[in-house]
Amino acid sequence: MKIPMMLSCKEAARLFLEAQEHSLSIGEYLALILHRFVCGLCRRYWKQVMFVQNVIRKYTGNIQEADFGSAPLLSIESREKMKNSLKGL
Ligand SMILES: [Zn+2]
Repeated sequence: MKIPMMLSCKEAARLFLEAQEHSLSIGEYLALILHRFVCGLCRRYWKQVMFVQNVIRKYTGNIQEADFGSAPLLSIESREKMKNSLKGL
């Protein structure tokens, strides 16, 4: 998704990952927050990245506990597909 006068999803993803390692400038931070506000695809991607980071922290014994409460859930349809495919095993 490309929104005029805003970050592209690729630019936003790069800044999001950079923000995990160091502070962003105020302009970068505001652009990132604005992009996250309007782009559902990036919100979903970032939620998934944070879920994976929480799992890694939990299983590597990092200080912070994993937060599974914000993890994305499977849809009912996806759960049923998984159940049906597991029945065949
Ligand atoms: Zn985006």
